[in-house]
Amino acid sequence: MPDLAAGLARFRREVFPAKAELFARLADTHRPTTLFIGCSDARVVPELITGSEPGELFVIRTAGNLVPAHAPGPDGVAAGIEYALAVLGVMDIVVCGHSACGAMTALAEGHDLGALPAIVGWLRHADAALARAAGAGVDALVRANVRAQLVNLATHPSVARALAERKVTLHGWVYDIPTGAVAVLDADGVPGLAA
Ligand SMILES: [Zn+2]
Repeated sequence: MPDLAAGLARFRREVFPAKAELFARLADTHRPTTLFIGCSDARVVPELITGSEPGELFVIRTAGNLVPAHAPGPDGVAAGIEYALAVLGVMDIVVCGHSACGAMTALAEGHDLGALPAIVGWLRHADAALARAAGAGVDALVRANVRAQLVNLATHPSVARALAERKVTLHGWVYDIPTGAVAVLDADGVPGLAA
């Protein structure tokens, strides 16, 4: 395990003083303008790839950047979405997939997930994407999945309301790990998606 204690000490010693004013302002202010929904994958770091400072992105990360469609019952992802829209009033929502996604690779290549029941259940939220990109490979599934999750996102009442009032814009991205490039998906088939 990397030495996290040393990292904390270095943060206090070097990073914090350089941004002391920002952190003082953030102490009682939380006004991010963007909800960023990405994969839990350790290689995809939202603030790093977007050049964002603390306080700018409200982030939800899930395995495979999946967003369950609105449904009754408690749901941590739904709560985060509702808070970002209805309380924080974010104006943009990014759903970001990425190259070599473990979740999408397992689905595209039909890996045996028999010993991973929680993952099997969770990945059902990619069923529509998988149906649409059947046999087209991992990259195609990654893109289809971003589109499918944007459609799921719009089923949440807080998002639907903000879309109807034109208070929010959706964005579909795919981050390429080896080059650092981000492909912006076009609006094809996703209402509210920025072109
Ligand atoms: Zn991933």
